[in-house]
Amino acid sequence: DLTPALLLRQTILGLSRNDQLRDAIERAPISRDVVHRFVGGVSAQDVLRVASELVDTRRSVTIDYLGEDTVDPAMATSTRDAYVELLRVLSEAGLTHDGTVEVSLKLSALGQALGRDGNTIALENARVICQAAANAGTTVTLDMEDHTTTDKTLWVLHELRQDWPWVGAVLQSYLYRTEQDCRDLAGAGSRVRLCKGTYKEPESVAFQSKADVDLSYVRCLKILLEGEGYPMVATHDPRLVEITSVLAEKARRDPDSFEFQMLLGIRPEEQLRLAATGARMRVYVPYGDEWYGYLMRRMAERPANLGFFLRGLATK
Ligand code: FAD
Repeated sequence: DLTPALLLRQTILGLSRNDQLRDAIERAPISRDVVHRFVGGVSAQDVLRVASELVDTRRSVTIDYLGEDTVDPAMATSTRDAYVELLRVLSEAGLTHDGTVEVSLKLSALGQALGRDGNTIALENARVICQAAANAGTTVTLDMEDHTTTDKTLWVLHELRQDWPWVGAVLQSYLYRTEQDCRDLAGAGSRVRLCKGTYKEPESVAFQSKADVDLSYVRCLKILLEGEGYPMVATHDPRLVEITSVLAEKARRDPDSFEFQMLLGIRPEEQLRLAATGARMRVYVPYGDEWYGYLMRRMAERPANLGFFLRGLATK
């Protein structure tokens, strides 16, 4: 059934494949500020500026390079190289010590979908990035994509952690399997980002209602906070932020033994408020040529942001 909300979502997702609109937005200087609310720019230098500003306001950062969808190994290699170059730039600017600014990787952009050997290609590319991160004194987190990749991504995580135990995972509370994955990954030294999950998943593998996804989030949160690892609580949901603080106190967690994470441009006042309470707050900053698709997906997730975007276009 096509509700107005679903229709709007589909329209925006349709626009995300419209190259003319993309070009118009890119050319119009008026929209630059608005785009930059959610995207850290196109080049490593752009994102360096954004990261520095966040660090200056007591927020740490994880950077995602929005590369091309990988359809050949050369593209995967060029995404890998973009990360290595980014880590060099960040390290030279003194931003990577103690993981202040780290990077987030999507294994699909590193070759995971390239046929039978895809996962091995992605692993090898991720190894190069992990070594560059280690040289820079920082960490890497593997983003989680749709459910058909969960096992493959957790296998890559396991392999990488043999050499770099600080490589972080992402688990999605909408999947039925995630409580067990949390138990498996709650051990000492692990870093786990818990999010609700952003892909359209079938009922056979995932909770469908917001209430069920939220309840699962709380159950997973408890497991991670009561475990020995480092939970990374990625949500903008005010209720879940509050519940995290209560559960963390119950689990006798120090404020520096877990962190909150939010996306660039979303609830920035709340990010600053949490940081001011002494909580650790990390901001996820996407950048790169593929900023347009990312922006449109955020708009589709929450059409209220579209009003903000269009108002900015009209008034700037
Ligand atoms: P929602 O249920 O979307 O929103 C709950 C409430 O939060 C809303 O009612 C509102 O009060 C507030 N809120 C939400 N959005 C906004 C907004 N734009 N402006 C103002 N208030 C808002 N997903 C993956 O599948 N894989 C990943 O690797 C991944 N990494 C992520 C990393 C980070 C740092 C973050 C923050 C999210 C990541 N996600 C990832 C996306 C995540 O799964 C959700 O799709 C996304 O965060 C929206 O869920 P939510 O927890 O904010 O709650």
